[in-house]
Amino acid sequence: MRVANIDGRATLLCKAEGGLDIAGASDGRFPSDPQRLIEDWDAFLEWAAGRDDQADVAIEPERVGPPTPAPKQVFAIGLNYAEHVDESAMGRPDSPPVFTKFPTSITGPCAPVTLPSATVDWEVELVVAIGRRAHHVSEDEAWRHVAGLMVGQDLSERVVQLAGPVPQFSLGKSFPGFAPVGPVLVTPDEFKDRDDLELGCALDGEVLQRGRTRDMIFSVPELIARLSAVCPLLPGDIIFTGTPSGVGNARNPKRFLTPGSTLTSFVDGIGELRNEFVAGARYPTPAS
Ligand code: ZN
Repeated sequence: MRVANIDGRATLLCKAEGGLDIAGASDGRFPSDPQRLIEDWDAFLEWAAGRDDQADVAIEPERVGPPTPAPKQVFAIGLNYAEHVDESAMGRPDSPPVFTKFPTSITGPCAPVTLPSATVDWEVELVVAIGRRAHHVSEDEAWRHVAGLMVGQDLSERVVQLAGPVPQFSLGKSFPGFAPVGPVLVTPDEFKDRDDLELGCALDGEVLQRGRTRDMIFSVPELIARLSAVCPLLPGDIIFTGTPSGVGNARNPKRFLTPGSTLTSFVDGIGELRNEFVAGARYPTPAS
Protein backbone atom coordinates (compact mmCIF):
# COMPACT_ATOMS: atom_id res chain seq x y z
CA MET A 1 0.00 0.00 0.00
CA ARG A 2 1.23 3.49 -0.87
CA VAL A 3 0.00 6.62 0.90
CA ALA A 4 0.80 10.18 -0.15
CA ASN A 5 0.12 13.72 1.06
CA ILE A 6 -1.69 15.53 -1.75
CA ASP A 7 -2.49 19.20 -0.98
CA GLY A 8 -2.18 18.35 2.72
CA ARG A 9 -4.70 15.46 2.52
CA ALA A 10 -3.94 11.79 3.08
CA THR A 11 -4.37 9.97 -0.22
CA LEU A 12 -4.24 6.26 -1.05
CA LEU A 13 -2.32 5.74 -4.29
CA CYS A 14 -4.14 3.59 -6.79
CA LYS A 15 -2.78 0.72 -8.88
CA ALA A 16 -3.10 2.65 -12.10
CA GLU A 17 -3.04 6.46 -12.05
CA GLY A 18 -4.29 8.81 -9.40
CA GLY A 19 -5.27 8.44 -5.79
CA LEU A 20 -8.24 8.11 -3.46
CA ASP A 21 -8.94 10.87 -0.92
CA ILE A 22 -9.03 8.87 2.31
CA ALA A 23 -11.18 11.18 4.46
CA GLY A 24 -13.71 11.63 1.66
CA ALA A 25 -13.92 7.98 0.67
CA SER A 26 -14.26 6.88 4.31
CA ASP A 27 -16.97 9.52 5.07
CA GLY A 28 -14.72 10.99 7.72
CA ARG A 29 -13.96 7.69 9.46
CA PHE A 30 -10.28 8.57 8.88
CA PRO A 31 -8.78 12.08 9.11
CA SER A 32 -7.57 14.08 6.11
CA ASP A 33 -4.39 15.00 8.04
CA PRO A 34 -1.67 12.56 6.87
CA GLN A 35 0.06 12.72 10.24
CA ARG A 36 -3.08 11.86 12.23
CA LEU A 37 -3.94 9.02 9.85
CA ILE A 38 -0.89 7.10 11.08
CA GLU A 39 -2.27 7.18 14.64
CA ASP A 40 -5.03 4.81 13.48
CA TRP A 41 -2.84 2.82 11.11
CA ASP A 42 -4.08 -0.74 11.76
CA ALA A 43 -7.72 0.24 11.23
CA PHE A 44 -6.74 2.20 8.14
CA LEU A 45 -4.87 -0.76 6.60
CA GLU A 46 -7.93 -2.95 7.12
CA TRP A 47 -10.24 -0.34 5.56
CA ALA A 48 -7.89 0.39 2.63
CA ALA A 49 -7.45 -3.21 1.47
CA GLY A 50 -8.89 -3.58 -2.03
CA ARG A 51 -9.74 0.12 -2.43
CA ASP A 52 -6.72 1.05 -4.55
CA ASP A 53 -8.67 0.95 -7.80
CA GLN A 54 -11.06 3.84 -7.05
CA ALA A 55 -9.01 6.94 -7.96
CA ASP A 56 -10.63 10.36 -7.49
CA VAL A 57 -7.52 12.58 -7.12
CA ALA A 58 -4.91 13.51 -9.75
CA ILE A 59 -1.29 13.32 -8.60
CA GLU A 60 0.89 16.21 -9.77
CA PRO A 61 4.39 16.60 -8.32
CA GLU A 62 3.86 20.17 -7.10
CA ARG A 63 0.85 19.06 -5.02
CA VAL A 64 2.73 16.31 -3.14
CA GLY A 65 3.78 17.09 0.43
CA PRO A 66 5.64 15.07 3.07
CA PRO A 67 3.75 11.88 4.09
CA THR A 68 4.69 12.65 7.72
CA PRO A 69 4.48 16.46 7.97
CA ALA A 70 4.63 16.77 11.78
CA PRO A 71 6.03 13.78 13.68
CA LYS A 72 6.23 14.11 17.46
CA GLN A 73 9.75 12.66 17.39
CA VAL A 74 12.37 12.50 14.65
CA PHE A 75 15.34 10.20 15.22
CA ALA A 76 18.41 10.25 13.02
CA ILE A 77 21.39 7.92 12.99
CA GLY A 78 24.98 8.84 12.17
CA LEU A 79 27.78 6.59 10.89
CA ASN A 80 25.58 3.62 9.95
CA TYR A 81 27.41 2.44 6.80
CA ALA A 82 31.02 1.20 7.05
CA GLU A 83 32.25 3.07 3.95
CA HIS A 84 30.75 6.31 5.28
CA VAL A 85 32.48 5.71 8.63
CA ASP A 86 35.77 5.32 6.73
CA GLU A 87 35.32 8.48 4.61
CA SER A 88 34.44 10.42 7.79
CA ALA A 89 37.71 9.20 9.38
CA MET A 90 35.78 7.99 12.43
CA GLY A 91 35.84 4.67 14.29
CA ARG A 92 33.14 2.06 13.67
CA PRO A 93 30.50 2.72 16.37
CA ASP A 94 29.58 0.09 19.00
CA SER A 95 26.17 1.71 19.39
CA PRO A 96 24.31 3.95 16.93
CA PRO A 97 25.07 7.69 17.26
CA VAL A 98 21.63 9.33 17.61
CA PHE A 99 20.53 12.92 17.02
CA THR A 100 17.32 14.63 15.92
CA LYS A 101 16.24 16.77 13.01
CA PHE A 102 13.79 19.21 14.58
CA PRO A 103 10.36 18.73 12.94
CA THR A 104 10.27 22.26 11.45
CA SER A 105 12.98 21.05 9.02
CA ILE A 106 10.57 18.63 7.30
CA THR A 107 9.52 19.48 3.76
CA GLY A 108 7.97 17.83 0.70
CA PRO A 109 9.59 15.57 -1.88
CA CYS A 110 9.63 18.23 -4.62
CA ALA A 111 9.98 21.35 -2.49
CA PRO A 112 12.68 23.92 -3.25
CA VAL A 113 15.19 24.24 -0.41
CA THR A 114 16.85 27.51 0.62
CA LEU A 115 20.61 27.30 1.22
CA PRO A 116 21.58 29.32 4.31
CA SER A 117 25.28 29.05 3.48
CA ALA A 118 27.80 27.65 0.98
CA THR A 119 28.54 24.57 3.13
CA VAL A 120 25.35 22.50 2.87
CA ASP A 121 25.87 18.79 2.15
CA TRP A 122 23.71 15.88 0.93
CA GLU A 123 22.93 12.57 2.68
CA VAL A 124 20.42 10.24 1.05
CA GLU A 125 18.73 7.94 3.59
CA LEU A 126 16.02 5.35 4.04
CA VAL A 127 13.43 6.82 6.42
CA VAL A 128 11.25 4.57 8.58
CA ALA A 129 7.82 5.73 9.84
CA ILE A 130 6.51 4.06 13.00
CA GLY A 131 2.93 2.71 12.82
CA ARG A 132 2.44 1.21 16.28
CA ARG A 133 3.70 2.43 19.66
CA ALA A 134 7.00 0.66 20.29
CA HIS A 135 8.56 0.50 23.75
CA HIS A 136 11.07 -2.22 24.66
CA VAL A 137 10.50 -3.93 21.33
CA SER A 138 12.79 -6.81 20.31
CA GLU A 139 14.45 -7.01 16.89
CA ASP A 140 12.13 -9.90 15.98
CA GLU A 141 9.06 -7.74 16.67
CA ALA A 142 10.46 -4.53 15.19
CA TRP A 143 9.11 -4.63 11.61
CA ARG A 144 5.56 -5.15 12.97
CA HIS A 145 5.79 -1.62 14.40
CA VAL A 146 6.68 0.03 11.08
CA ALA A 147 3.96 1.84 9.10
CA GLY A 148 6.09 2.30 6.03
CA LEU A 149 9.27 3.47 4.37
CA MET A 150 10.16 6.71 2.61
CA VAL A 151 13.12 8.34 0.88
CA GLY A 152 14.76 11.10 2.89
CA GLN A 153 17.55 13.66 2.57
CA ASP A 154 19.45 14.49 5.76
CA LEU A 155 20.66 17.88 4.49
CA SER A 156 23.47 19.12 6.70
CA GLU A 157 25.07 22.54 7.26
CA ARG A 158 28.58 21.30 8.04
CA VAL A 159 29.99 24.42 9.74
CA VAL A 160 27.14 24.62 12.28
CA GLN A 161 27.12 20.82 12.66
CA LEU A 162 30.80 20.54 13.54
CA ALA A 163 31.37 23.83 15.43
CA GLY A 164 32.10 24.12 19.13
CA PRO A 165 33.40 21.78 21.82
CA VAL A 166 30.48 19.37 21.25
CA PRO A 167 29.35 18.96 17.61
CA GLN A 168 25.81 20.27 17.03
CA PHE A 169 24.40 17.58 14.74
CA SER A 170 20.76 18.32 15.59
CA LEU A 171 21.04 22.07 14.96
CA GLY A 172 23.21 21.87 11.84
CA LYS A 173 20.74 19.45 10.24
CA SER A 174 17.56 21.37 11.09
CA PHE A 175 17.43 24.52 8.95
CA PRO A 176 13.99 24.90 7.28
CA GLY A 177 13.68 22.43 4.40
CA PHE A 178 16.62 20.28 5.53
CA ALA A 179 14.46 17.14 5.84
CA PRO A 180 12.65 16.39 2.58
CA VAL A 181 10.77 13.07 2.86
CA GLY A 182 8.52 11.08 0.53
CA PRO A 183 7.42 10.95 -2.17
CA VAL A 184 5.09 8.30 -0.68
CA LEU A 185 4.89 6.10 2.41
CA VAL A 186 5.19 2.48 1.27
CA THR A 187 4.15 -0.36 3.60
CA PRO A 188 6.88 -2.96 4.30
CA ASP A 189 4.90 -5.81 2.68
CA GLU A 190 5.34 -4.10 -0.72
CA PHE A 191 9.05 -4.97 -0.85
CA LYS A 192 10.53 -8.26 -1.97
CA ASP A 193 13.31 -7.79 0.59
CA ARG A 194 12.67 -4.86 2.95
CA ASP A 195 16.16 -5.33 4.47
CA ASP A 196 18.03 -4.86 1.18
CA LEU A 197 17.01 -1.75 -0.79
CA GLU A 198 19.20 0.20 -3.18
CA LEU A 199 19.43 3.95 -2.49
CA GLY A 200 21.33 6.84 -3.97
CA CYS A 201 21.35 10.46 -5.03
CA ALA A 202 22.52 12.56 -7.97
CA LEU A 203 23.16 16.28 -8.46
CA ASP A 204 22.05 17.57 -11.87
CA GLY A 205 22.37 13.99 -13.10
CA GLU A 206 25.84 13.28 -11.66
CA VAL A 207 25.67 10.29 -9.29
CA LEU A 208 27.00 11.23 -5.83
CA GLN A 209 25.93 8.33 -3.61
CA ARG A 210 24.84 4.77 -4.23
CA GLY A 211 24.45 2.02 -1.65
CA ARG A 212 22.31 -0.79 -0.29
CA THR A 213 20.51 -0.87 3.06
CA ARG A 214 21.81 -4.39 3.74
CA ASP A 215 25.17 -2.68 4.39
CA MET A 216 23.86 -0.79 7.43
CA ILE A 217 25.92 -1.43 10.55
CA PHE A 218 22.69 -1.32 12.61
CA SER A 219 19.73 -2.71 10.65
CA VAL A 220 16.20 -1.25 10.83
CA PRO A 221 15.12 -3.89 13.42
CA GLU A 222 18.23 -3.26 15.50
CA LEU A 223 17.68 0.52 15.42
CA ILE A 224 14.06 0.11 16.56
CA ALA A 225 15.13 -2.26 19.35
CA ARG A 226 17.88 0.07 20.57
CA LEU A 227 15.86 3.32 20.32
CA SER A 228 12.74 1.78 21.89
CA ALA A 229 14.84 0.48 24.79
CA VAL A 230 15.03 4.15 25.85
CA CYS A 231 12.22 6.15 24.19
CA PRO A 232 8.71 4.92 23.41
CA LEU A 233 8.41 5.29 19.62
CA LEU A 234 5.02 6.78 18.73
CA PRO A 235 2.87 6.24 15.64
CA GLY A 236 4.02 8.77 13.05
CA ASP A 237 7.53 9.16 14.48
CA ILE A 238 10.25 8.82 11.87
CA ILE A 239 13.83 7.51 11.83
CA PHE A 240 16.50 8.69 9.37
CA THR A 241 18.61 5.52 9.23
CA GLY A 242 21.98 6.88 8.11
CA THR A 243 23.71 7.59 4.81
CA PRO A 244 26.04 5.56 2.60
CA SER A 245 29.39 6.95 1.45
CA GLY A 246 29.82 9.79 -1.03
CA VAL A 247 28.96 12.91 0.98
CA GLY A 248 30.52 16.21 -0.13
CA ASN A 249 32.30 17.04 3.14
CA ALA A 250 34.46 13.90 2.84
CA ARG A 251 35.67 14.72 -0.69
CA ASN A 252 38.97 16.28 -1.61
CA PRO A 253 38.36 19.08 -2.34
CA LYS A 254 35.16 19.32 -0.28
CA ARG A 255 32.02 19.85 -2.30
CA PHE A 256 28.68 21.40 -1.35
CA LEU A 257 25.28 22.26 -2.80
CA THR A 258 24.96 25.38 -4.93
CA PRO A 259 21.95 27.54 -5.88
CA GLY A 260 20.25 26.43 -9.09
CA SER A 261 21.28 22.79 -8.78
CA THR A 262 18.75 19.97 -8.39
CA LEU A 263 19.30 16.95 -6.14
CA THR A 264 17.43 13.75 -6.91
CA SER A 265 17.35 11.04 -4.24
CA PHE A 266 15.86 7.56 -4.57
CA VAL A 267 15.20 4.35 -2.70
CA ASP A 268 14.38 1.33 -4.82
CA GLY A 269 10.65 0.53 -4.70
CA ILE A 270 9.64 3.86 -3.12
CA GLY A 271 10.39 6.64 -5.61
CA GLU A 272 12.37 9.82 -5.93
CA LEU A 273 12.78 13.16 -4.19
CA ARG A 274 13.59 16.10 -6.44
CA ASN A 275 14.76 19.22 -4.62
CA GLU A 276 16.09 22.36 -6.25
CA PHE A 277 18.27 24.73 -4.22
CA VAL A 278 17.89 28.48 -4.01
CA ALA A 279 20.22 31.01 -2.39
CA GLY A 280 19.13 32.38 0.98
CA ALA A 281 19.76 36.00 1.97
CA ARG A 282 23.06 35.04 3.60
CA TYR A 283 24.31 32.75 0.86
CA PRO A 284 27.66 34.22 -0.26
CA THR A 285 27.80 35.75 -3.71
CA PRO A 286 30.84 34.83 -5.88
CA ALA A 287 32.34 38.26 -5.07
CA SER A 288 32.05 37.98 -1.28
ZN1 ZN B 1 22.50 11.42 8.05
